[in-house]
Amino acid sequence: MIVPAQSAILAFANARRVVEEQARTLRPGQTERTALLRSRGRVLAEDIAADRDFPPFPRAARDGYAVRGADLAVLPATLRIIGEVRAGSAFSGGPLRRGEAAEIMTGAPVPAGADAVVMVEYTTRQGARVAVERAVAAGENIVPAGSEARAGQLLLARGTRMGFAEIAVAAGVGKAQVSTYSPPRVGILSTGDEIVDVDAHPGPSQIRNSNSYSLSAQVEAAGAEPVRLPIAPDDPVVLKHLIEEGLALDLLLLTGGVSMGKYDLVEPMLAEFGAEFFFTGAQIQPGRPVVFGRARRGPATAATYFFGLPGNPVSTMVTFEIFVRPMLDALCGAAPGKLRFLQARLGAEVRTKTGLTRFLPARLSGEFERTEVELVRWQGSGDVAAMERANCFLVVPPDRERFAAGEMVSVLLR
Ligand code: AMP
Ligand code: MG
Repeated sequence: MIVPAQSAILAFANARRVVEEQARTLRPGQTERTALLRSRGRVLAEDIAADRDFPPFPRAARDGYAVRGADLAVLPATLRIIGEVRAGSAFSGGPLRRGEAAEIMTGAPVPAGADAVVMVEYTTRQGARVAVERAVAAGENIVPAGSEARAGQLLLARGTRMGFAEIAVAAGVGKAQVSTYSPPRVGILSTGDEIVDVDAHPGPSQIRNSNSYSLSAQVEAAGAEPVRLPIAPDDPVVLKHLIEEGLALDLLLLTGGVSMGKYDLVEPMLAEFGAEFFFTGAQIQPGRPVVFGRARRGPATAATYFFGLPGNPVSTMVTFEIFVRPMLDALCGAAPGKLRFLQARLGAEVRTKTGLTRFLPARLSGEFERTEVELVRWQGSGDVAAMERANCFLVVPPDRERFAAGEMVSVLLR
């Protein structure tokens, strides 16, 4: 057996930087036409531009009366109603002249000659006339044609991840189909003699394979396609064979077998594929033994990146969130994203030891003006149930050993 040539335990920020650097070297795969509604979570492989001005006409932003602001110099002003404009219709009369108003609905085109819309709330209808109680500035309650976007203007750039707002933009410019990158295929390989399939009846010392499931869900949420490989026992021959299978995919995620135990064989087996290790551990908790590198199935094949994630289920989930996502972004065709932290007030004191960046399962709660975060009670990184009760991670930097209740702390949403 070959022992990894390079071995490096990096501080969290450095490990993250290394992943982001490698991610930037990746290119996405094939493109495909995708029905707009199926594009959610995928990444655009084309630029999408405005097909016309937005809005295409000066749009009333309120229900009321289209008027000439100058007519409201003396209040209340009484104007003659010359017609009605509904959303979807056009005004049939000529341009508004002095002393005239047109009844108008939100979303309708403002008639020529009008320069403002006065809200219906500030008016009183008197037969064919309307009394207006408030003045309006020129342009008030009108969205000018082309003010949101000009025809031809780029609205969604290639590399944009499609969410609901992006889907709305594409729908607005008439894209029933969009070109997207095919989701990368991500191998998931759980290792361990004690691990059995979810549908198997576990013996007294066996553990069900929850990691393949949490990872599949995380991979899918990141817009990629999980490929669950069979469970690998802690046996060099079988493990090596399954790693070889996994290296044929776009990215390989292994769980378990990366600690210092006698039967932790993942690193030596990867080394047999000439693996280059960018780090073999990170100064974090949970997840310290996490491994990142790349290896080739054979001398003529391209290198595939891999992560060896620690087997403890919470460690597996955390290390995926903090390290794997940039690689998936890049393989999906998007720029590798940064982690997004937010600040929240701490509900109860937290004490830790210095030296590690910690991502502790925590719960954010409260009203929008008074959010509070508290640690979830947990039994350590095997405690999946605690992770389920959490909705975020409280991030403790390596130089802090205590946060008092009421202090602002960093939170990573999950
Ligand atoms: P390891 O990283 O192989 O030392 O495993 C650490 C702990 O995580 C052990 O208690 C394992 O039983 C548990 N574990 C490893 N792999 C899995 C898995 N696929 N699903 C659930 N628990 C696991
Ligand atoms: Mg193990």
